[in-house]
Amino acid sequence: MDCFSYRNGELYAEDARVSDIAASAGTPCYVYSQATLEDHYDRLVDAFRPIDPLVCYSVKSCSNLGVLRVLAARGAGMDAVSGGELYRAKAAGVPMSRCVYAGVGKTDREIREAILGGLGLFNCESEEEFENIARIAGELRRETRVALRINPDVDPKTHRYTSTGKKETKFGVDLERARRFFATYGRDPFARLEGLHLHIGSPIYTVDPYREAMTKTAALVDELARDGFAIRSIDLGGGFGADYESAQSPPLREYAEAIIPLAKPLFDRGVRFILEPGRTIVANAGILVLSVLYTKTSGDKRFIICDAGMNALLRPSHYGSFHFIWPVAPGEAMTPARRTLDPKLPGTVAQDVVGPLCETGDFLALDRVLPASIRRGDLLAVFTAGAYGMSMASRYNSSPLPAEVLVSGARAQVVRARESFETLVEHERTPTALDLRRTEVADGASARADAGAIHA
Ligand SMILES: *Cc1c(COP(=O)(O)O)cnc(C)c1O
Repeated sequence: MDCFSYRNGELYAEDARVSDIAASAGTPCYVYSQATLEDHYDRLVDAFRPIDPLVCYSVKSCSNLGVLRVLAARGAGMDAVSGGELYRAKAAGVPMSRCVYAGVGKTDREIREAILGGLGLFNCESEEEFENIARIAGELRRETRVALRINPDVDPKTHRYTSTGKKETKFGVDLERARRFFATYGRDPFARLEGLHLHIGSPIYTVDPYREAMTKTAALVDELARDGFAIRSIDLGGGFGADYESAQSPPLREYAEAIIPLAKPLFDRGVRFILEPGRTIVANAGILVLSVLYTKTSGDKRFIICDAGMNALLRPSHYGSFHFIWPVAPGEAMTPARRTLDPKLPGTVAQDVVGPLCETGDFLALDRVLPASIRRGDLLAVFTAGAYGMSMASRYNSSPLPAEVLVSGARAQVVRARESFETLVEHERTPTALDLRRTEVADGASARADAGAIHA
């Protein structure tokens, strides 16, 4: 479900007209719906109530502080994968004790600051990392809690780049090594190894990979118990689906129904469960709004050239992802009933939606059925763009990052201002004159201010 809908042929975010938001915030801009964020969070908490998990929102899916604050106010903890994300969680007012911290490359500084800040749980990815956490905790003489990220060798049947629980990926420690890991490190006095963590991939559209991973995890918990190690927390990660097309993803209730029967016996024995959802909360809670700069035809193909492309939304070109795209004000006759690859409306034709960057890979959709009437000056909405949209945006081609707007009811607030050209270069420093070796031009013209100008 989400709160983006067409009324009288015009797109609304909750009760705010998207064209009004674009007129005041400018494009490209991301627009998030607070009611959608809250609804998704509440549904997840409801679905998993029998095992009462701590829901740690995955900061990397959409890290705007306004979004983090909306979820923190609901009681969410945060799942961070870097020191920068822990900083954001703290800035959004989330207690460090409700934060978990994963990632294969934590630096000494990040580890030290997390321990001193009172981090809830390290999700540790390797033997060397554990030894480092234990060394730093020992030096600080501070206890810290650690879960071992296990790699259950489950195929989530998703994109190769976002499959994270197969043996050949870089994440976690395989099941065979997990028992040895506990035997070696399970009695450390400062780094208290007492949890298991897994995150098998994203997005996962069937419940079976979770069932398989949970079954393997429960078996490991028993083996570890026999070895004398009591598991106090299990973090099942994220990866639940989102609706890139209408009704693509199973409802959260179905994931819960697959996981709970396997998890409940452990919960009843005192194991604390943690979930790390990102996409399923924020993907459908956000759209990207673009302006059409030009249209053109090359051969048989019609191109729609927008004011942003892969710089604002990398997913189509990086993962080959589908995002439904449609005009913000198509009129009633051209309002689609469903968000799908081929909305089957008369007056549509296959077109490429591209950005302004100097890359052939700079596209948002190829051969997409869209109204033939789309023209220069129209606004387009790219749907299901809340997750891994702004958080993966780049400044390539010196493109200022988009604005971000949070809508609640009829109220729209800018929660991140659009970057200016000045902020694009603010961290750059001019080398001192001594370091600049000027190339002399034979006629001495380089001294002139307009030397080498195309138009002198
Ligand atoms: C990215 C990530 C998540 C969130 O995945 P979603 O598909 O957005 O739910 C959760 N846990 C870890 C460790 C991650 O890296």
